[in-house]
Order: sequence, then structure tokens, then C-alpha cells
Amino acid sequence: MLDADFFHRWLAAAAAAVDREADRLTELDSPIGDADHGSNLRRGFTAVVATPEKEAPDTPGAVLTLAGRQLISTVGGASGPLYGTLLRRTGKALGEAPEVSEAEFAEALRAGVDAVAALGGAALGDKTMLDSLVPGVDALPTSYAAAREAARRGALATIPLQARKGRASYLGERSVGHQDPGATSSALLFEALAEAAGE
Ligand code: ADP
Ligand code: MG
Ligand code: MG
Repeated sequence: MLDADFFHRWLAAAAAAVDREADRLTELDSPIGDADHGSNLRRGFTAVVATPEKEAPDTPGAVLTLAGRQLISTVGGASGPLYGTLLRRTGKALGEAPEVSEAEFAEALRAGVDAVAALGGAALGDKTMLDSLVPGVDALPTSYAAAREAARRGALATIPLQARKGRASYLGERSVGHQDPGATSSALLFEALAEAAGE
């Protein structure tokens, strides 16, 4: 079973990964965007982990719902509402239970990914964060390590794609040949999840 502490560990590992990779995320956002993805997410995850321990929620659902709200209010740019929605919707799907099973979490994260697709109007293959989120959540019932690898491969697979959503889509064919920054940060979320689970 997964308790609130597991989700705190996930978010802390995600914040550390975003901090470590921020320059690279911003570099990826330079040829096909506006060179702010790393700084956007760093600002957001810094706010998430800055929640004082006595104010930290103590159910899995509430941990993710609060983090999602914090991302929405601190991250400028497309990725803030999208990642915020991912966490808020996942948190909402987990309800108020003090502990959730891995199967329940995988199902809730699926609802979160579906909400990202609904909000942004993007689908698999549009060269967005969904190209990493969808394969990651598909592989989650297998293992955290499988999800991490699937998400990483999904991010790499955005390189030959032409962007159909977001800022990169304004470039048309010139978006081909570059890895999508949002798919790359999504892969970091799955990496952090495997880390929190000790895999
Ligand atoms: P902005 O483009 O507003 O500067 P960021 O640079 O923080 O925001 O985030 C860009 C990332 O957001 C893209 O690499 C892409 O993965 C993701 N993204 C943008 N638009 C969409 C969308 N409509 N659906 C899903 N993901 C999107
Ligand atoms: Mg950007
Ligand atoms: Mg921007």
C-alpha cells in the first residue's frame, strides 16, 4: 500500500530531478519554444516542496491535489496548468483514503493523464508531454522501472515528430529533429516515481 509519505517522497524526488535537469529542459525548449521550461518547472516544484511539514496533507489524494494547485498557481506557461491538472485529477481520483494500492494509483494516474489530454486537446504523437505520460502510465501496472523506461523511450521518440500542439507547433516542419521538453520532464516524473518506490 502507498501512504502519504510515498507521495511526498515522489514529489521531493521530482523536485530534485527538475532542479538537476532544469538547464537541459530549458535548452530543449530553446529551438522549438521560448527557453523557459526548466525555469518554469523549477519554480513550480520549489513551491511544492516548500510546504511546511505541519501543513503537509496526510492522505495521498490531498498531497497530490495540493501539489497540483501549487503548480497551477506558480508555473507560468502551458506546462503549469497541464501538470497541475495531472496531479489534481490524480489526487481527486484517489479520494480520501489514508493508503491506496498500486493498482488504484495506476488507475488514478490514468485519469490524470486523460485530463491532460482533454485540457490541452493533444493526443499521442502530437509531440507533447503526452508522448511520455501515456506510455509511462500504460506500463505502470507492470512496474515502476518499466514505466520509467517506457516514459524515457516515449520522450526520445518525440525527436522525429512534428509538433501539432503548443508553442512548438508554430514551427511546423522545423519542429522535427528536436526532443520535446515537456515529454522529457514527464519522463523525469516517472524516474522520480521509481526512485520513491526504491526501484
Ligand atoms: P510554454 O510553451 O508556455 O513556454 P513550457 O515551456 O513550460 O510552456 O512547456 C512546454 C511543454 O508543454 C511542451 O514541450 C509540451 O510538452 C507541453 N505542451 C504544450 N502544449 C500542450 C498541449 N496542448 N497538450 C499537452 N502538452 C502540451
Ligand atoms: Mg516554454
Ligand atoms: Mg513560456
